[in-house]
Amino acid sequence: VRKPSRKGSMADVPQDIVTEIASLERLFTVDQAKLKEITEQFIVELKDGLEGNGNIPMNPSWVMNMPDGEETGRFLALDMGGTNLRVCEIELVDEKGEFDIIQSKYRMPEELKSGNAEELWDYTADCIEQFIEYHHEDDKDNLETLPLGFTFSYPATQEYIDHGVLQRWTKGWAVEGVEGHDVVPQLEKALRERKLPVTIAALVNDTTGTLVASAYTDTAMRLGCIFGTGCNGAYVEHCGNIPKLKHMNLPDDMEMLINCEYGAFNSKGTTPVLPKTPYDVMIDETSPRPGQQAYEKMISGLYLGEIFRLTMLDLHDNKKLIFQNQDLAQFRTPFCLDSSFLSFIEEDPFENLSETQDMFNDKFQVKANKAELELCRRLAELIGTRAARLCACGIAAICKMKGFDSCHVGADGSVFNKYPHFKQRIAKALRDILDWTGRKDPIVLSASEDGSGVGAALIAALTVKRIKEGNT
Ligand code: BGC
Ligand code: MG
Repeated sequence: VRKPSRKGSMADVPQDIVTEIASLERLFTVDQAKLKEITEQFIVELKDGLEGNGNIPMNPSWVMNMPDGEETGRFLALDMGGTNLRVCEIELVDEKGEFDIIQSKYRMPEELKSGNAEELWDYTADCIEQFIEYHHEDDKDNLETLPLGFTFSYPATQEYIDHGVLQRWTKGWAVEGVEGHDVVPQLEKALRERKLPVTIAALVNDTTGTLVASAYTDTAMRLGCIFGTGCNGAYVEHCGNIPKLKHMNLPDDMEMLINCEYGAFNSKGTTPVLPKTPYDVMIDETSPRPGQQAYEKMISGLYLGEIFRLTMLDLHDNKKLIFQNQDLAQFRTPFCLDSSFLSFIEEDPFENLSETQDMFNDKFQVKANKAELELCRRLAELIGTRAARLCACGIAAICKMKGFDSCHVGADGSVFNKYPHFKQRIAKALRDILDWTGRKDPIVLSASEDGSGVGAALIAALTVKRIKEGNT
């Protein structure tokens, strides 16, 4: 438990560090006026995307309806996120809204992320094969063919539900031979080579999965969001509000889930409103995809540790303020800190930050003194708070664009679930944007019930049902 007050702990911190902390506060703080400005620009870019212009893809998902809780059947779900690969088998049982799930997680080897398409799909199909062998040891030879909901958490252009051309990799991935191609036949080929009793029924983004899974049990759900390795949101739009689908003559009041891909907000070519620091600029410039995913690069889990690391290195190398006369060799590997490092600092229960001190020592052979520890703590808070506040802009923009007075938002992802104070900080920022002073928040976020697994299975179930009923 954290000691009640840490006030006054700056008393014996030297003046140059106090001054630096104040300057970091100016650099990383996003005030209320800025939040509002960002949200307004966000609405402009969301609407541009629906017209087929600008940076935010606003991808139609071809998920046209929400589950009613009566879906049944057995499905596989494959979750290819930024960090792990997960295979689930989900049984939607007869009781309304209930399901059983078994799952296995596989590590996504780092070298696959920059390898070629064939290696990626071979590895993926191997994981599915292993899953079936392990969980169906006894009945694998007479297993009925299982429909698979494939959660592919990258921007894809879909012309129908079991189709998706990868627009571009995000989250540091750069597998050759996938961008510009439909990923479904690529995976199908690898499944066929292994003679696996699996057919891909639906390609799903993790945000649409999250929205559908959350809506399964809560009818006030309007948005699904991910705050994890990457960040993104999905919501329900009326086809009449999607000018880029006009040529298809869909009824105006027909609903369509839109995978916004709003991690791309404010990327190259739009009026810049994001308060980028020199460290954000460095991250972008050295990334495999400079100029893309500008918003995501400031807030998602993949980058938070790196923002911290680059800031600290600047204070050491250039400003000569911290860790002087120490060798920071261990600290110089790009992306050697992940966001759990910042969580850890923010959660250090001790007044003297001794756990943080030990961690610097153990992980990087760096001795941090009291003033340096205070600075680390403040910097972690600033980066974590900025991320949460910027996250709120995407949510607020969709709600404002749709004219929602109140709604529920289903959220998932490692940052949302594990980063300390993240939920409270988003809630505070939403109040700032909406000028809300009432007691009950109009926009309420809650942890989603496994969108990437259950959501994908539900969407597969809705698809199978639609095909049976003869509508495509
Ligand atoms: C991807 C999205 C995904 C998000 C969260 C982003 O980098 O482009 O498709 O929803 O990460 O996983
Ligand atoms: Mg995920």
